Amino acid sequence: MSERPGPRRPIPIAPVPAPAGSATPGMGHSAHTGGALATQAEGALTALPPLSLYVHLPWCLRKCPYCDFNSHVWRAPDAPAAGAKPDAATQTRYRQALVRDLEAALPQIWGRTVHSVFIGGGTPSLFEPEQVEALLADIRARLRLEPACEITLEANPGTFEAQRFAAYSRAGVTRLSIGVQSFDDRALAALGRVHDGAQARAAVQEAAACFDTWNLDLMYALPGQTVDDLDRDLETALALKPPHLSIYHLTIEPNTRFALQPPPQLPDDDSAYAMLDRIIEATTAQGLSRYEVSAFSRPGHRCTHNLNYWRFGDYLGLGAGAHSKLSFPDRLVRQVRWREPRAYLEAVERGQAVSNESAITLEDRPFEFMLNGLRLIEGVSLRAFHERTGLNVALLEPALQRAVAQGLLVHDGLQVRASERGLDFLSDLQALFLPG
Ligand code: SF4
Repeated sequence: MSERPGPRRPIPIAPVPAPAGSATPGMGHSAHTGGALATQAEGALTALPPLSLYVHLPWCLRKCPYCDFNSHVWRAPDAPAAGAKPDAATQTRYRQALVRDLEAALPQIWGRTVHSVFIGGGTPSLFEPEQVEALLADIRARLRLEPACEITLEANPGTFEAQRFAAYSRAGVTRLSIGVQSFDDRALAALGRVHDGAQARAAVQEAAACFDTWNLDLMYALPGQTVDDLDRDLETALALKPPHLSIYHLTIEPNTRFALQPPPQLPDDDSAYAMLDRIIEATTAQGLSRYEVSAFSRPGHRCTHNLNYWRFGDYLGLGAGAHSKLSFPDRLVRQVRWREPRAYLEAVERGQAVSNESAITLEDRPFEFMLNGLRLIEGVSLRAFHERTGLNVALLEPALQRAVAQGLLVHDGLQVRASERGLDFLSDLQALFLPG
C-alpha cells in the first residue's frame, strides 16, 4: 500500500492489436474522435508537460487482504514455500528487463528531462540497495534527470533491516515513502500486514535519520476502529514529525480477499467523516497542510511526482503492469505493460513490454484532466487545462457553471477548485465533466 495514485485509475485501455513493430499501434489520426466537441487542431499541444518516471517492482512478502495493486508473492523455483525476497538472480533479471524496457521506450520521450522518479510496488524495499543503485545508474545513463530530481522509493516496515535505509540514500534515493498504515498491533493484524507497531516506529525513526524528506502512509476507517483509536494512531504518527503524510480511507476493492470475506465492524460513513475531521484538525495543529484529498505536508515537502500526476503531467511507467501517460504534439496516449511479472519478463525479452495502448480522445480529456486536478485543494489553472489538453477552455463552461450552481466548485476565472462541499462530494463533481 502506498502513495501511488496512478494504478487505481479505472481508465479503459484497449489491447495492443499487433505485436510490436509500431511504437504506437492504432494511434493514427483516426484516433481523434472529438466529434462535436472540437476539431483536430483544437487537440494539438503547443508544449509538452513535465515528465516523470515510474518504476514498478511487483513483489511482496504476502498479499494484504485489501490490496488491489499489481503485487505478487514471490516463489522460488522448485520451492513450495512463499513469502521470501526475490532471489539475487531474479532481482538482476528484473532490473535488466527494466533497462531494456526503458531503452525501447526512449524514442517516445527523446530530448525530454525527467522531473521525478518513483520506485513503487509491490514492496520495492525487498530489492537490495545495490540493485537500486545499479538501476538508478542505468536510468541516469539513458535519461536526463533534473539536478534536483526527486527520487522516491517505497518501503515497508516488515522488510526493514538496520542500515538498509541509509544504503538506499547512498544509492541515490532522495525520499522514502513508508507503508505504515497503523501503529496499532490489532489493526495491523486485521489488515494482514507483515509488521507490528514497534517495527513501524523503528522504520520511521530510521527513515527520519537517513532522509531529509519522507512520507508516512496511514489508513483510517479500519475494522473495529474508533475515533479514539484513530487519535492514538495520529498522535504516534505526528510525534514522529513526518514531513509528509498520506492518509487513506480503507475501501473494499473488487478482486480482493476483503471483497470475498468483508472484515467485521467497518466504521459507517458518519464515523468515517468524523475521523476525517479529526485527521484534518490534528495535522493542521502540527503544521501540516492538506494539499490533496489524501495528502498532507509541511512547507517544501509536497510530493513532486504525485503533483505532476494530479496536474495531468506525463509519466513513463516501466515494469510489470506499469501505466504510462505520454503527450505528443498531435495526440495523448495511455499504455499499460504486461501485468504478471513472468509475462512481463518474457514480453520484454521479445521487445513487447506494452500490452495495451489507447488514445485519450478529445471528448475524454476534460474529465481526465479534472478527475485528478480537482483532488488538489488549490485546484487547477484553466491555462494548464488548455496547455495539457489542447482544448479551448470555453468547452468547460457548461460543466463549470453547473458545478458552481450546485455549490461544488469555486471558479475565479483563472483557477478552479473544489469547494468544501465539492471535496465531500468529489465523485459527483468529477462526473460533471464526463463526456455528454
Ligand atoms: S504491501 Fe502494499 S502492495 Fe504489497 S500486498 Fe500489501 S498493500 Fe499490496
